[in-house]
Amino acid sequence: MNDEIYAPYEQPPDPDSYRVSVLLVDDQPIIAEAVRRFLADEEDIEFHYCQDPARAIKMASEIRPTLILQDLVMPEIDGLTLVRYFRANPSTRIVPIIVLSSKEEPKVKSEAFAMGANDYLVKLPDKIELVARIRYHSRAYVNQIQRDEAFRALKKLSVTDPLTNIANRRYFHEFLEREWQRGLRNKTPLGVIICDIDFFKLYNDSYGHQQGDICLKSVASALKKALLRPGDLVARYGGEEFVAVLPETDEEGTVNVAERMNSNVEALGLSHEASKVADHVTISVGAVSAIPASDFSADLMVSAADKALYIAKENGRNRVVRGDLKKKPAS
Ligand code: GH3
Ligand code: MG
Ligand code: MG
Repeated sequence: MNDEIYAPYEQPPDPDSYRVSVLLVDDQPIIAEAVRRFLADEEDIEFHYCQDPARAIKMASEIRPTLILQDLVMPEIDGLTLVRYFRANPSTRIVPIIVLSSKEEPKVKSEAFAMGANDYLVKLPDKIELVARIRYHSRAYVNQIQRDEAFRALKKLSVTDPLTNIANRRYFHEFLEREWQRGLRNKTPLGVIICDIDFFKLYNDSYGHQQGDICLKSVASALKKALLRPGDLVARYGGEEFVAVLPETDEEGTVNVAERMNSNVEALGLSHEASKVADHVTISVGAVSAIPASDFSADLMVSAADKALYIAKENGRNRVVRGDLKKKPAS
């Protein structure tokens, strides 16, 4: 969920400086010696050899090859099965595999491709052909990784609020809708919280807009710290308003998080001389939780939380009010 998109962003390999790294899996050391000799003059190609197919997956996850050369006939394991294992393992899922066979057999060849091999060579291939194929598949693999990373980075940018670095309103709606559907299926409660900074216009008026932006960043991180489960989401709803979605959280749990948000913001101790409710920055919070059902909607939960927030403001600010979903608006 948000984990995947908010996971730390890894730098993709630099296209001009990546090394081609080959892992050969073959039970016969004599083949390894021949391949090693072929690759000896190719300075940009690193060569690794694994004689024991049972260790091949582990070795590949450590070495991170850009290409796997794999024998099809080995004593302990069927070569096609090993190809399947490579494909099932997250760290080798898309690493190109060239299978090496002792003869040209159309049936074996087509099975190898069906299992996910990218290429097929009869042992021992010509040196020039082997090197060319190693380079070609490695380059395609590195390009693919870069495209995947770039796509992930763009996707993350499109769902992130640039000022506070937490999720934006668009991601909030996407996430809320998904969790609403999940709650509907599993009959598990869903918590929704809306907070709004108290007298923030006066804060900007006294300290300036730039200081206001710094305040928004601090509040965002204080709110984020109030969430304890990895499946929870906090987002900037707009201006000085923030929202949280708490999957599988009942009303007590939701109110607890809301109270923690309120006290985390107070604990920042950011001076706010113009505030009419405290001498530091505070927030008002509306909190609701319900088991999703077909006679209301995620939007109705948001508006119930918003009404609770409004009451929190009316009742003096710097407080949490729980919303009421039982009094459904007449439709
Ligand atoms: P209340 O306690 O009733 O919430 O009062 P308030 O002043 O916080 O509410 P109001 O909605 O009147 O004002 C919100 C202010 O938030 C107005 C706007 O200038 C400020 N604001 C909204 N977005 C930003 C932003 O990105 N940066 C800064 N610095 N200020 C913002
Ligand atoms: Mg507001
Ligand atoms: Mg406000």
